[in-house]
Amino acid sequence: MTVWTSLKPSADAFASRHIGPREAEIVAMLSALDVGSEAELLDQIVPSTIRSERPMGIGSGWSEVEVLARLRELAGRNTVMTSLIGQGYYGTVLPGVIQRNILENPAWYTAYTPYQPEISQGRLEALLNFQTLVCELTGLDIANASLLDEATAAAEAMALAKRVAKSKSDVFFVDADTHPQTLSVLKTRAEPFGFRIVVGDPATDLDPSAVFGGLFSYPGSSGAIRDPRAAIKALHAAGAIAVMAADPLALTVLAAPGDLGADIAVGSMQRFGVPMGFGGPHAAYMAVRDAYKRSMPGRLVGVSIDASGQPAYRLALQTREQHIRREKATSNICTAQVLLAVIASMYAVYHGPEGLVAIAKRVAGLTAALSAGLRSLGVHVDTECVFDTFTVRVAPEEAETIHARAVAAGMNFRRAGTGVIGLSLDETTTPEVVEAVWRCFDPECPVGALAAAANGCPELSAAVPPELRREKPFLSQEVFNTHRSETDMLRYLRQLSDKDLALDRSMIPLGSCTMKLNATVEMMPITWPGFCDLHPFAPASQTQGYAELFRDLEGWLCAISGYDAVSLQPNSGAQGEYAGLLAIRGWQRARGQTQRDVCLIPASAHGTNPASAQMAGMKVVVVRCDASGNVDMEDLKAKVAQHADTLAAIMITYPSTHGVFEENVRDICALVHEAGGQVYLDGANMNAQVGLSQPGKYGADVSHFNLHKTFCIPHGGGGPGMGPIGVRAHLSPFLPGRPEEGEALAVSAAPFGSASILPISWAYIRLMGDAGLARATTLALLNANYIATRLSGAYPILYRGVNGRVAHECIVDLRPIKETSGVTVDDIAKRLVDFGFHAPTVSFPVAGTFMIEPTESEGKRELDRFCAAMLAIREEIRQIEEGRIAVQDAPLRHAPHTARDLASEWERVYSRSEGCFPPGVDPATKYWPAVGRIDNAHGDRNLICSCPEPSFYE
Ligand SMILES: *Cc1c(COP(=O)(O)O)cnc(C)c1O
Repeated sequence: MTVWTSLKPSADAFASRHIGPREAEIVAMLSALDVGSEAELLDQIVPSTIRSERPMGIGSGWSEVEVLARLRELAGRNTVMTSLIGQGYYGTVLPGVIQRNILENPAWYTAYTPYQPEISQGRLEALLNFQTLVCELTGLDIANASLLDEATAAAEAMALAKRVAKSKSDVFFVDADTHPQTLSVLKTRAEPFGFRIVVGDPATDLDPSAVFGGLFSYPGSSGAIRDPRAAIKALHAAGAIAVMAADPLALTVLAAPGDLGADIAVGSMQRFGVPMGFGGPHAAYMAVRDAYKRSMPGRLVGVSIDASGQPAYRLALQTREQHIRREKATSNICTAQVLLAVIASMYAVYHGPEGLVAIAKRVAGLTAALSAGLRSLGVHVDTECVFDTFTVRVAPEEAETIHARAVAAGMNFRRAGTGVIGLSLDETTTPEVVEAVWRCFDPECPVGALAAAANGCPELSAAVPPELRREKPFLSQEVFNTHRSETDMLRYLRQLSDKDLALDRSMIPLGSCTMKLNATVEMMPITWPGFCDLHPFAPASQTQGYAELFRDLEGWLCAISGYDAVSLQPNSGAQGEYAGLLAIRGWQRARGQTQRDVCLIPASAHGTNPASAQMAGMKVVVVRCDASGNVDMEDLKAKVAQHADTLAAIMITYPSTHGVFEENVRDICALVHEAGGQVYLDGANMNAQVGLSQPGKYGADVSHFNLHKTFCIPHGGGGPGMGPIGVRAHLSPFLPGRPEEGEALAVSAAPFGSASILPISWAYIRLMGDAGLARATTLALLNANYIATRLSGAYPILYRGVNGRVAHECIVDLRPIKETSGVTVDDIAKRLVDFGFHAPTVSFPVAGTFMIEPTESEGKRELDRFCAAMLAIREEIRQIEEGRIAVQDAPLRHAPHTARDLASEWERVYSRSEGCFPPGVDPATKYWPAVGRIDNAHGDRNLICSCPEPSFYE
């Protein structure tokens, strides 16, 4: 007899959807590994010295229905208001065609960073459009794609200014009328570099000869528009650099920073269609003069040609980046905001220059009307020259009444100082909102009369001085003038995403990057108004749902990691590293140990580690790895002894970037602690630990968690991500605080970083529960070992643990093949495209190797398909080794093969079908790359980083 209460859906149903292999497949894989059970496998992989003894305490997994219901409840506890707060965050209308076909479309959001350009032409084109848009708006020569937020972009601009300025000063000037969160991040960033920030009025307080650069806000945070030309001229005469923080919508009607003399422009592209999201994610931009392009941080998309001479996009000037330049890199930025940059670019593609100007003029017109009406009510309006924002001054008691009326009417105004109220309008503002604002200042006001008077306001407020109006036309490129109907737009988006390979087509076996399932149910809440339409500085009483979600998530991350406190502020893994090192620095300084500035980093570390250490004011000392890929204990002891007095920290990755659980991790931590140093454990590989071991319990002091790796936030083609940090109790006073609260450490513009994507990780953890999470880790380890076992006959596996097992990823050594056949890692990476696969991580952490991480989400069928492709490629290599075909004639060297190749004159020594349809590829479902192999050197020699003239394509 069935008990009716047992007829509810099984609670662990979701875990079995998230985890790829079916039970029968698991049995088969275990037997391929010659182990009897999952438990036995774990015993072989994870050192007993670090194994957790208890469940984490998250509880059992919930069903998808339960999780959605709970998230709906939390979203309902956030109050969506009409925001007039401004301060860098504005209401905007995300066109439905972009929301559904990019933000909610796995073809876009599950893609990886476009390091393999042949399978990334769609998103690279979108990013080139973004760079073009930024260049056109700013009047500067070259723009990147993209930075994390406006405040960190300003900090990057400051660091760039120092690198290129002739001035030897270490003082940076900041316009007092700058967003407070930008100022907080600038102050945080300046301190470890030894820069001093001087804040003042550019007209009266700037001493050009005493600074290496200055930042001017345009418009200012108060909305005031000031002419920066005199100050910029003076800076240039003194050998200093001029940075402008500029609002992109204002730039459609204002003179461009480049035309005003600026060397660098930064800002947020949020209001180009990206919801405020309680602070993020959105893309920041940076544009510079041509002379500074090699010093610019962030990713840069460039145009090159492919093997058949066709134009093709790829990432340019990568030698600037941390994966190559380490602590000498232009910044530690790795994950950026690609998906949001794509959305912003498409907003401009859809609206075109006239559409953007029309939006800007409407906003400016309503702003003029609002301020004229307030003036006629006798309200003191502070700001003269304005675009969309101004401040008014009232008696302090009256201000409270006005704010209360605003809230009662469903609006938030900015508290811009005692008795100072800030009002910012945006694309969503209607005449009804303007009337409602008037009524907040005077409930009895004659709305009709004010409206009639306001009708006389010019479209573009007379308040914008003629010499600061944009004269030059912009965005004349074809792409910004073609896709006006929704049909055209829909097809353009589809055309681009069809060019790309993302998780919706095949596994992406990227070591270190954990490309696992981003479940639909996890993604659904992020576009709910209750999560995405909140301003980051909305009153706390309106954001209780978020507060609860953050409390849960912080608690769970502590439970998972064994740490005592978590900060959700860092909006990428690299930002987490930086924040964690600053916490260490703060703690040591508070104990009077200002001399501690050495950071030990194993040679195998991810490039962001040394780059972050440098930003935190530390000196990088490299520790060797031994022949089995582990930290060389003798070298570590020597380096610790040598730097004992100045040792600040060690940064280790666990399991190591070599894909192994080092047995002596506890000893490493103890050694560093004994010398007075702290242990930063890079948490990018938490996917091998969740539920099995806890960094906070076996010796580490602080870690970041890449929520876009282990915790299911999608990669978005190179961002967004989140990199919260966990710390042990002693470091918790040194975690990033809320920027509005004075001098607290701020590493991101918004208090909770990219808050609106946190529901994704919340949902994942809640759906999986203790058992589901631990099972996922176990299956990630099983899948990796299955691949290692299947491939090991054909390719050497470079590193293994003491029992011959790898962790959640493995390094396949391709260097011997290069010796015997001349086939390069690149040849194999590109040949995998012909099989319909994204290549694994290439040449990290060891040059000439692949690092493969399948994750728990791939089932045995997909793992077998991948192994079969790798083994078929090994046979092709054997043909070269045996002299049956020359490497330069082989399909491997000509890969990837395009439809154009197939239809062209065929002069290859192998057949069309051998080239285009290797074993296991079904011509009916084949993925065709849009371009053939791309010539990187050509692109770097002939650098083009915005949409080329049509003649280029001829
Ligand atoms: C991904 C990664 C990072 C950097 O994280 P981002 O989120 O890309 O900034 C750091 N360390 C390791 C080992 C990583 O794999």
